[in-house]
Amino acid sequence: MPRAERQCRAALARAGASFAEAPPVHEPEDGCRMDHPVLLSDLGDGVALEPPALLTCPMAEATARFMREEVRPAAERHLETSPDTLVQVSAYVCRSRHGSETISEHASGNALDWGAIRFEDGTALDIREYGADEAAERDFFAAIREAACGPFATVLGPGTDEAHADHFHFDLAERNGGAYCR
Ligand SMILES: [Zn+2]
Repeated sequence: MPRAERQCRAALARAGASFAEAPPVHEPEDGCRMDHPVLLSDLGDGVALEPPALLTCPMAEATARFMREEVRPAAERHLETSPDTLVQVSAYVCRSRHGSETISEHASGNALDWGAIRFEDGTALDIREYGADEAAERDFFAAIREAACGPFATVLGPGTDEAHADHFHFDLAERNGGAYCR
């Protein structure tokens, strides 16, 4: 295993995340490939990931870090509670991007779609409620969406287009010229 992959796993373990090594994925006829995937089931810091997600280690690590450094403080600030579960709706998927022939970042395990966040006080927020009536919830969503732009190379969600009306899409696409956040 390459050194960068080992270092990534060490960082994930330090963050308290739970993950298992998964077998490599090669579906060359569809352009889908992951050499060193992990099956991530817990982001550490008291936040479970449901269902477990098949991802590259860097995407898993970026997600755990983002939850810890941005989502938790934003929840405490705006909602006076802490996240305890991230509900994901798409991780590795061997398919092309919506309405395009280009292979999606999901096809290399480099993307994660967020459907909902559940909190310690028993409440939950569905990403489809983005722009809800409650100012606190609206501010929470806006805060994490803005904070995601940079740590993730692509940030899409409600308002981007119809395909993203009910989830956030975050990925680590390689881009020249900065993050793409819409
Ligand atoms: Zn996506």
